[in-house]
Amino acid sequence: KKIMLSGIQPSGDLHLGNYLGAIKNWADRVNEFECYYFMADMHTITVRQDPKELRRRSLEMLALYIASGLDPEKNTLFLQSHVPAHAQLGWVLDCYTMFGELSRMTQFKDKSEKHKDNINAGLFTYPSLMAADILLYQPHYVPVGEDQKQHVELTRNIAERFNNIYGDVFRIPEPYIAKTGARIYGLTTPGSKMSKSEPNGCVFLMDEDDVIMKKFKRAVTDSDTENCVRYDKENKPGVANLMNIYSTITGKNFEEIEKEFEGKGYGVFKPAVGEAVIETIAPIRDEAKRLIADKAYLENVYKEGADRANYIANKTLRKVYKKVGFYQL
Ligand code: ATP
Ligand code: MG
Repeated sequence: KKIMLSGIQPSGDLHLGNYLGAIKNWADRVNEFECYYFMADMHTITVRQDPKELRRRSLEMLALYIASGLDPEKNTLFLQSHVPAHAQLGWVLDCYTMFGELSRMTQFKDKSEKHKDNINAGLFTYPSLMAADILLYQPHYVPVGEDQKQHVELTRNIAERFNNIYGDVFRIPEPYIAKTGARIYGLTTPGSKMSKSEPNGCVFLMDEDDVIMKKFKRAVTDSDTENCVRYDKENKPGVANLMNIYSTITGKNFEEIEKEFEGKGYGVFKPAVGEAVIETIAPIRDEAKRLIADKAYLENVYKEGADRANYIANKTLRKVYKKVGFYQL
């Protein structure tokens, strides 16, 4: 089986975009690949975090992964900070990553613009830790969104540079772009993508049914008075976003959706999308709640995940340490 790896930062609560754009696709591939999925908790501290909140979100994310169908028996689910090899390889790779390369990362430019009071070294070297996250597990594929493609490209360059000096140490991973790469936009801000760092436009996976419905009823549609469900991404981005959500969930195409709501207007359409979303995420939320209440079970999952991840990661790390010339213990 080919190996696949991905992670999400518990830097905010998981939302519908994370689910439809990432986690759902992972869950669909469970039987096709050998999968590693982790909570990238170490990456979150490039921005100040509330320690209690970070702990809560890390565990909640694990529960949501499982509730979404990532079976911990078939996948290795773990917390990044439970596998010291990430930090250890991260340091080595820092020394094989160029200042100029890191300076060109658009995410660094964006984030340092946004957090002017805390442009720390970790924010800058984030991509070499991410390269370590990936390369430790020798994956064939890394599923990533558009925003991470530049970092995977850098990971490949770092790995090739290292391999050129020391021989075949790392497998060169391919970015894996899902065929159904749903890109979800904020409900109140259809101009920008739904994102953890913009909680206003988010439908969270842990939201209660009535909260979800309220958010959909209040979703921004368009400024014209047409009141007609028609796919027009340019002029009606809000409606297009709702149609995309509805389509991803129900499997209906845009034409079918236009037919379904012909002559019915937004007053019918918006609650219908809300209802479809509730049907999809309510069972996930309820199962996640049940798991969070079962601390012993989750503890067992992340301990076993850490065991498996440590075993694989340490194999790669030992190889690297030997190659660069560290004296074996
Ligand atoms: P942040 O604001 O911290 O960047 P985020 O909500 O963008 O948070 P990420 O941690 O960057 O989430 O991404 C996690 C995964 O979810 C990635 O695979 C990413 O491509 C996917 N993803 C994030 N937002 C969306 C979205 N709006 N639509 C589809 N997929 C998304
Ligand atoms: Mg993002």
